[in-house]
Amino acid sequence: MGSSLVSEKKTALVTGASRGIGNATAAALAAAGYDLILTGYSHPDKLETIAHDLEKRYSRKVTTHVGDVSDPVFIKEMFSSMDHLDLLVNNAGISYVGLLQDMSDEDWNRTMGVNLNSIFYTCREAIPVFLRNDTDPAGRIINISSVWGIVGAATEAAYSASKGAVNAFTKALAKELAPSRIPVNAIACGFIDTEMNGHLSEEEKQAVIAEIPADRIGLPSEVADAVVLAASAPAYMTGQIITVDGGWI
Ligand code: NAP
Repeated sequence: MGSSLVSEKKTALVTGASRGIGNATAAALAAAGYDLILTGYSHPDKLETIAHDLEKRYSRKVTTHVGDVSDPVFIKEMFSSMDHLDLLVNNAGISYVGLLQDMSDEDWNRTMGVNLNSIFYTCREAIPVFLRNDTDPAGRIINISSVWGIVGAATEAAYSASKGAVNAFTKALAKELAPSRIPVNAIACGFIDTEMNGHLSEEEKQAVIAEIPADRIGLPSEVADAVVLAASAPAYMTGQIITVDGGWI
């Protein structure tokens, strides 16, 4: 009953694949049989190395695009060369830590542009590509969000607002796309060991870990495994904000 049919050759797009969670997600999807379209921005060399390694290790086709996900022209151009897509993983993101009263308009807009607007741009382009698929589901969208989008964090109001908006966007678009057989879900990460948390001292990291029931920081590969699970979940599972946080919130 209800087995998910996918095309023989599955292709996934992962934004922000040059480091951290996006890099781990690209590797997990390649291992799961996906050809990959990967994006990066300020680390094009790292992106090329990752693409080359995954191509070699898993014998998958991997293509790369370098550009700013908050730029709708870059996103449009990337999709103009795309003839097929099964899975969109919106992962690229930035954090901003600081008191709201000191935050500039530019930093606010940048946070929203990279974390939220980018997802509007990619989904807008991906939906018509998915609708051409003769598969069930026709395509899938997985947004990488944050527990701060659910509970909020002091000194991260803009980041929390951007991820809260991603969560609401996920739920709304899931309703809009359910009749078209396109599940939309989000993975709300807790404290994950990437360069995004590089500004924290060892003492600060231990203070965060002390609040986490799992008593440790999460691994990018654990988020990646959750992406692979969500990418093969029943299509009836849509509009969900799935936390991967060691029981934190
Ligand atoms: P990361 O190690 O800092 O990596 C961020 C990735 O996003 C990089 O590949 C980077 O590419 C890309 N990126 C940043 N700005 C971009 C832009 N303007 N255009 C295109 N790509 C851009 O961060 P991460 O921890 O892996 O974060 C990945 C996602 O997980 C983000 O959405 C983040 O909010 C979310 N998350 C992370 C945590 C955590 O604790 N780490 C917790 C909750 C949620 P370049 O390096 O090439 O510029």
